[in-house]
Amino acid sequence: MGDFREELERTRKEALEAIESAEDLVHLEEVRVRFLGRKGRLPLLLRTIRDLDPTERPSAGQLGNAIREELEAALGKRKLELEKGRLERPSVDVTLPGRPLPRGSLHVVTQTLEDILSIFVSMGYTVVSGPEVELDYYNFEALNIPKDHPARDMQDTFYISDQVVLRTHTSPVQVRTMEKGPPPVQIVCPGKVYRHDSDPTHSPMFHQVEGLVVDKGITFADLKGTLTVFVERIFGPSTPLRFRPSFFPFTEPSAEVDIQCVLCRGSGCALCGQSGWLEILGSGMVDPAVFGFVDYDPEVYSGFAFGLGVERIAMLRHGIEDIRLFYENDLRFLMQF
Ligand SMILES: [Zn+2]
Repeated sequence: MGDFREELERTRKEALEAIESAEDLVHLEEVRVRFLGRKGRLPLLLRTIRDLDPTERPSAGQLGNAIREELEAALGKRKLELEKGRLERPSVDVTLPGRPLPRGSLHVVTQTLEDILSIFVSMGYTVVSGPEVELDYYNFEALNIPKDHPARDMQDTFYISDQVVLRTHTSPVQVRTMEKGPPPVQIVCPGKVYRHDSDPTHSPMFHQVEGLVVDKGITFADLKGTLTVFVERIFGPSTPLRFRPSFFPFTEPSAEVDIQCVLCRGSGCALCGQSGWLEILGSGMVDPAVFGFVDYDPEVYSGFAFGLGVERIAMLRHGIEDIRLFYENDLRFLMQF
């Protein structure tokens, strides 16, 4: 009986150690078979009870069963620990190909803006930005648009206060740049602008790029050459264009630039109002009065300026009919570009 008890205790101790040191579920199952399986150490040991003295058999059986229960409980506990650990550290097959993530892209307005800017940067222009909430002075007054000027009726403006507006164009950036130093100036000013206007071709917020060149001896020929290169690079090398006399308070003379209708190729359609031409930007020679606000001598310096709507260019390039599509964040629209 003493030998039996000793062997039982040795088996119990070794089994508990083996269970505790099992590092995974496969190893744990081996331990279970080794100690508790049909031919495991404990069942084999319990079979020797019949060799004991009959008076000792009941207590020996009780002890054996208690140890079996203890080992089964330890096995179950260790199994739960290993399963939990497996969840926390999922095994990774590094040889599997990765799951592709859906990939975003730049918004079509941003793409168009970058195309426009890269054309001017390649011609030596510097990109400059400025505040969207702007003083009345920079948005109107310094651009030769005084308070009582009828040109202010051309733009429905969002006023923050009497002296502060949401800029209606990026021209204030030109004035701010000229204030900072003398010519030469060769800049493009991209950014959001705001006008109280909303229909299929107008949005209360849209993007503009304006350009300004000031130096000695700048002429209308420079303006024409620059904008011709721009149109050919953004719409294609053989795009016919024309300069049409116009009026802006801050340029004199002023010209609007039209390209031949991208839809009907000049024969007339609904898009171009049967004219065969599409207006794409405004331009002109800087009015000497504007130079007066920034202390540039108009007898020495001359310059030209231009401005265009980024959405308008994107609509013409891609055949988009409603400007509001740009701001609805509908993936069916955005994924086409
Ligand atoms: Zn047309």
